[in-house]
Amino acid sequence: MARSVLVTGGNRGIGLAIAQAFVAQGDKVAVTHRGSAVPDGLLGVRCDVTDGAQVEAAFKEIAEAHGPVEVLVSNAGITADTLLLRMNEDTFDRVIDTNLAGAYRVAKQAASAMLRKRWGRIIFISSVAGLSGSPGQVNYAASKAGLVGMARSIARELGSRNITANVVAPGFVETEMTETVSDERKAEILGQAAIRRFGRPEEIAAAVTWLASDESSYVTGAVLPVDGGVGMGH
Ligand code: NDP
Repeated sequence: MARSVLVTGGNRGIGLAIAQAFVAQGDKVAVTHRGSAVPDGLLGVRCDVTDGAQVEAAFKEIAEAHGPVEVLVSNAGITADTLLLRMNEDTFDRVIDTNLAGAYRVAKQAASAMLRKRWGRIIFISSVAGLSGSPGQVNYAASKAGLVGMARSIARELGSRNITANVVAPGFVETEMTETVSDERKAEILGQAAIRRFGRPEEIAAAVTWLASDESSYVTGAVLPVDGGVGMGH
Protein backbone atom coordinates (compact mmCIF):
# COMPACT_ATOMS: atom_id res chain seq x y z
CA MET A 1 0.00 0.00 0.00
CA ALA A 2 1.23 3.50 -0.85
CA ARG A 3 2.65 5.17 2.23
CA SER A 4 2.93 8.86 3.06
CA VAL A 5 6.65 9.66 2.94
CA LEU A 6 8.42 12.93 3.73
CA VAL A 7 12.01 13.60 2.73
CA THR A 8 13.36 16.90 4.06
CA GLY A 9 15.68 18.54 1.56
CA GLY A 10 14.28 16.18 -1.06
CA ASN A 11 14.25 18.84 -3.77
CA ARG A 12 17.85 18.11 -4.82
CA GLY A 13 20.97 16.05 -4.15
CA ILE A 14 20.84 12.87 -2.09
CA GLY A 15 17.37 13.76 -0.78
CA LEU A 16 15.98 13.89 -4.31
CA ALA A 17 17.40 10.43 -5.10
CA ILE A 18 15.78 9.11 -1.91
CA ALA A 19 12.44 10.73 -2.79
CA GLN A 20 12.55 9.28 -6.30
CA ALA A 21 13.30 5.80 -4.96
CA PHE A 22 10.14 5.96 -2.84
CA VAL A 23 8.12 7.22 -5.83
CA ALA A 24 9.44 4.26 -7.86
CA GLN A 25 8.00 1.95 -5.19
CA GLY A 26 4.60 3.59 -5.53
CA ASP A 27 4.64 5.68 -2.35
CA LYS A 28 3.16 9.17 -1.96
CA VAL A 29 6.18 11.39 -1.48
CA ALA A 30 6.47 14.93 -0.16
CA VAL A 31 9.71 16.90 -0.12
CA THR A 32 10.59 20.17 1.54
CA HIS A 33 12.09 23.04 -0.41
CA ARG A 34 12.94 26.66 0.33
CA GLY A 35 11.60 28.26 -2.82
CA SER A 36 13.07 26.04 -5.53
CA ALA A 37 11.11 24.05 -8.09
CA VAL A 38 10.36 20.42 -7.28
CA PRO A 39 10.47 17.66 -9.93
CA ASP A 40 7.21 16.19 -11.21
CA GLY A 41 5.76 13.36 -9.17
CA LEU A 42 6.69 14.91 -5.82
CA LEU A 43 4.61 17.10 -3.52
CA GLY A 44 6.74 20.15 -2.72
CA VAL A 45 6.09 21.80 0.64
CA ARG A 46 7.84 25.02 1.47
CA CYS A 47 9.64 24.55 4.77
CA ASP A 48 12.80 25.74 6.45
CA VAL A 49 13.63 23.17 9.15
CA THR A 50 15.08 25.87 11.41
CA ASP A 51 11.59 27.33 11.83
CA GLY A 52 9.26 25.30 14.08
CA ALA A 53 6.10 27.00 12.77
CA GLN A 54 7.01 26.19 9.15
CA VAL A 55 7.69 22.58 10.12
CA GLU A 56 4.29 22.29 11.81
CA ALA A 57 2.55 23.85 8.79
CA ALA A 58 4.36 21.48 6.40
CA PHE A 59 3.16 18.40 8.31
CA LYS A 60 -0.42 19.71 8.20
CA GLU A 61 -0.18 20.29 4.44
CA ILE A 62 1.19 16.78 3.87
CA ALA A 63 -1.44 15.16 6.11
CA GLU A 64 -4.19 16.84 4.07
CA ALA A 65 -2.71 15.80 0.72
CA HIS A 66 -1.24 12.35 1.45
CA GLY A 67 -2.34 11.41 4.97
CA PRO A 68 -0.13 11.67 8.07
CA VAL A 69 3.57 11.02 7.50
CA GLU A 70 4.37 7.32 8.01
CA VAL A 71 7.97 7.40 6.80
CA LEU A 72 10.18 10.35 7.70
CA VAL A 73 13.61 10.83 6.15
CA SER A 74 15.42 13.67 7.88
CA ASN A 75 17.96 14.59 5.23
CA ALA A 76 18.16 18.41 5.08
CA GLY A 77 21.63 19.53 6.00
CA ILE A 78 24.32 22.14 5.50
CA THR A 79 28.04 22.50 6.00
CA ALA A 80 29.96 25.61 7.08
CA ASP A 81 33.51 24.32 7.24
CA THR A 82 36.40 26.03 8.99
CA LEU A 83 39.01 25.04 11.53
CA LEU A 84 38.05 25.13 15.21
CA LEU A 85 40.12 28.20 16.08
CA ARG A 86 38.44 30.19 13.30
CA MET A 87 34.93 28.89 13.94
CA ASN A 88 32.71 31.52 15.50
CA GLU A 89 29.56 30.75 17.49
CA ASP A 90 27.24 31.70 14.65
CA THR A 91 28.93 29.23 12.28
CA PHE A 92 28.70 26.52 14.92
CA ASP A 93 25.08 27.26 15.84
CA ARG A 94 23.80 27.54 12.26
CA VAL A 95 24.93 24.02 11.41
CA ILE A 96 23.60 22.54 14.65
CA ASP A 97 20.28 24.36 14.22
CA THR A 98 19.75 22.95 10.72
CA ASN A 99 21.25 19.47 10.96
CA LEU A 100 20.46 18.49 14.54
CA ALA A 101 17.67 20.74 15.86
CA GLY A 102 16.00 20.54 12.43
CA ALA A 103 15.95 16.75 12.75
CA TYR A 104 14.43 17.04 16.24
CA ARG A 105 11.71 19.39 14.92
CA VAL A 106 10.61 17.05 12.12
CA ALA A 107 10.92 13.88 14.21
CA LYS A 108 8.71 15.37 16.90
CA GLN A 109 6.01 16.30 14.38
CA ALA A 110 6.18 12.88 12.73
CA ALA A 111 6.12 10.92 15.99
CA SER A 112 2.70 12.04 17.17
CA ALA A 113 0.89 10.73 14.08
CA MET A 114 3.04 7.56 14.05
CA LEU A 115 2.07 6.89 17.67
CA ARG A 116 -1.61 7.11 16.76
CA LYS A 117 -1.05 4.72 13.85
CA ARG A 118 1.22 2.47 15.93
CA TRP A 119 3.61 2.20 13.02
CA GLY A 120 6.35 4.41 11.66
CA ARG A 121 9.81 4.65 10.22
CA ILE A 122 12.24 7.47 10.99
CA ILE A 123 15.56 7.59 9.16
CA PHE A 124 18.18 10.22 9.86
CA ILE A 125 20.86 11.02 7.28
CA SER A 126 24.08 11.40 9.23
CA SER A 127 27.60 11.18 7.76
CA VAL A 128 30.81 9.24 8.08
CA ALA A 129 32.19 12.55 9.40
CA GLY A 130 29.97 12.24 12.47
CA LEU A 131 31.54 8.90 13.36
CA SER A 132 35.20 9.39 12.33
CA GLY A 133 35.51 13.15 12.79
CA SER A 134 36.73 15.39 10.00
CA PRO A 135 39.15 18.33 10.07
CA GLY A 136 37.35 21.62 9.51
CA GLN A 137 33.99 20.11 10.41
CA VAL A 138 33.69 20.40 14.19
CA ASN A 139 30.17 21.82 13.83
CA TYR A 140 29.05 19.41 11.11
CA ALA A 141 30.53 16.28 12.71
CA ALA A 142 29.00 17.20 16.08
CA SER A 143 25.59 17.65 14.45
CA LYS A 144 25.87 14.32 12.63
CA ALA A 145 27.08 12.42 15.72
CA GLY A 146 24.18 13.95 17.64
CA LEU A 147 21.76 12.25 15.27
CA VAL A 148 22.95 8.85 16.51
CA GLY A 149 22.00 9.62 20.10
CA MET A 150 18.74 11.14 18.91
CA ALA A 151 17.80 8.10 16.84
CA ARG A 152 18.68 5.67 19.61
CA SER A 153 16.65 7.59 22.19
CA ILE A 154 13.65 7.73 19.86
CA ALA A 155 14.10 4.01 19.13
CA ARG A 156 13.86 3.30 22.87
CA GLU A 157 10.92 5.66 23.43
CA LEU A 158 8.79 4.44 20.54
CA GLY A 159 9.89 0.88 19.78
CA SER A 160 6.95 -0.69 21.60
CA ARG A 161 4.63 1.01 19.07
CA ASN A 162 6.35 -0.46 15.99
CA ILE A 163 8.16 2.78 15.27
CA THR A 164 11.80 2.37 14.32
CA ALA A 165 14.47 5.06 14.22
CA ASN A 166 17.70 4.43 12.35
CA VAL A 167 20.66 6.31 10.94
CA VAL A 168 22.27 6.10 7.51
CA ALA A 169 25.84 7.41 7.44
CA PRO A 170 26.91 8.13 3.86
CA GLY A 171 30.47 8.56 2.74
CA PHE A 172 31.48 11.04 0.06
CA VAL A 173 28.84 11.60 -2.62
CA GLU A 174 29.26 14.20 -5.38
CA THR A 175 26.48 16.79 -4.92
CA GLU A 176 26.32 20.58 -4.61
CA MET A 177 27.34 20.16 -0.96
CA THR A 178 30.70 18.62 -1.87
CA GLU A 179 31.44 20.88 -4.90
CA THR A 180 33.76 23.06 -2.85
CA VAL A 181 35.89 20.20 -1.49
CA SER A 182 39.43 20.51 -2.88
CA ASP A 183 40.82 17.90 -5.28
CA GLU A 184 43.52 17.13 -2.74
CA ARG A 185 40.96 16.36 -0.01
CA LYS A 186 38.88 14.31 -2.47
CA ALA A 187 41.94 12.20 -3.32
CA GLU A 188 42.58 11.68 0.40
CA ILE A 189 38.99 10.51 0.98
CA LEU A 190 39.15 8.23 -2.05
CA GLY A 191 42.32 6.71 -0.67
CA GLN A 192 40.48 5.69 2.51
CA ALA A 193 37.66 3.92 0.68
CA ALA A 194 37.88 0.15 0.22
CA ILE A 195 35.65 0.57 -2.82
CA ARG A 196 37.77 3.07 -4.73
CA ARG A 197 35.15 5.47 -5.96
CA PHE A 198 32.68 7.95 -4.51
CA GLY A 199 29.16 6.93 -3.59
CA ARG A 200 26.14 7.52 -5.77
CA PRO A 201 22.93 9.11 -4.43
CA GLU A 202 21.00 6.00 -5.51
CA GLU A 203 23.20 3.85 -3.26
CA ILE A 204 22.23 5.96 -0.24
CA ALA A 205 18.59 5.79 -1.33
CA ALA A 206 18.66 1.98 -1.47
CA ALA A 207 19.69 1.77 2.20
CA VAL A 208 17.00 4.24 3.18
CA THR A 209 14.16 2.47 1.36
CA TRP A 210 15.20 -0.80 2.99
CA LEU A 211 15.17 0.76 6.46
CA ALA A 212 11.70 2.12 5.65
CA SER A 213 10.38 -1.27 4.53
CA ASP A 214 8.54 -4.00 6.42
CA GLU A 215 11.60 -6.21 5.91
CA SER A 216 13.59 -4.11 8.38
CA SER A 217 10.95 -4.37 11.12
CA TYR A 218 13.42 -5.68 13.76
CA VAL A 219 16.15 -3.13 13.00
CA THR A 220 16.12 -0.05 15.21
CA GLY A 221 18.74 2.25 16.70
CA ALA A 222 21.15 1.04 14.03
CA VAL A 223 23.77 3.05 12.20
CA LEU A 224 24.16 1.83 8.63
CA PRO A 225 27.28 3.18 6.94
CA VAL A 226 27.05 3.49 3.14
CA ASP A 227 30.56 4.76 2.64
CA GLY A 228 32.50 2.32 0.48
CA GLY A 229 34.31 1.07 3.57
CA VAL A 230 35.81 4.39 4.71
CA GLY A 231 34.69 4.02 8.31
CA MET A 232 34.81 0.27 8.92
CA GLY A 233 34.75 -0.48 12.63
CA HIS A 234 32.19 2.11 13.73
P1 NDP B 1 22.89 19.33 -0.96
O1 NDP B 1 23.63 20.55 -0.52
O2 NDP B 1 22.93 18.91 -2.38
O3 NDP B 1 21.36 19.45 -0.49
C1 NDP B 1 21.04 19.88 0.80
C2 NDP B 1 19.54 19.82 0.96
O4 NDP B 1 19.23 20.26 2.30
C3 NDP B 1 18.83 20.76 0.00
O5 NDP B 1 17.63 20.16 -0.40
C4 NDP B 1 18.54 21.97 0.87
O6 NDP B 1 17.42 22.72 0.48
C5 NDP B 1 18.27 21.28 2.20
N1 NDP B 1 18.36 22.23 3.31
C6 NDP B 1 19.46 22.84 3.78
N2 NDP B 1 19.13 23.66 4.80
C7 NDP B 1 17.79 23.55 4.96
C8 NDP B 1 16.86 24.15 5.85
N3 NDP B 1 17.22 25.02 6.79
N4 NDP B 1 15.55 23.80 5.73
C9 NDP B 1 15.14 22.92 4.78
N5 NDP B 1 15.99 22.34 3.92
C10 NDP B 1 17.29 22.65 4.01
O7 NDP B 1 23.44 18.18 -0.01
P2 NDP B 1 23.49 16.59 -0.18
O8 NDP B 1 22.39 16.12 -1.01
O9 NDP B 1 24.87 16.23 -0.51
O10 NDP B 1 23.26 16.16 1.35
C11 NDP B 1 22.03 15.62 1.83
C12 NDP B 1 22.29 15.09 3.24
O11 NDP B 1 23.30 14.07 3.18
C13 NDP B 1 22.81 16.14 4.20
O12 NDP B 1 22.24 15.94 5.47
C14 NDP B 1 24.30 15.87 4.22
O13 NDP B 1 24.87 16.31 5.42
C15 NDP B 1 24.32 14.36 4.09
N6 NDP B 1 25.59 13.82 3.60
C16 NDP B 1 26.10 14.20 2.38
C17 NDP B 1 27.29 13.67 1.96
C18 NDP B 1 27.89 14.01 0.64
O14 NDP B 1 29.05 13.59 0.39
N7 NDP B 1 27.23 14.72 -0.23
C19 NDP B 1 28.04 12.71 2.78
C20 NDP B 1 27.42 12.40 4.03
C21 NDP B 1 26.23 12.94 4.41
P3 NDP B 1 17.54 24.04 -0.45
O15 NDP B 1 17.51 23.57 -1.88
O16 NDP B 1 16.35 24.84 -0.05
O17 NDP B 1 18.84 24.70 -0.09
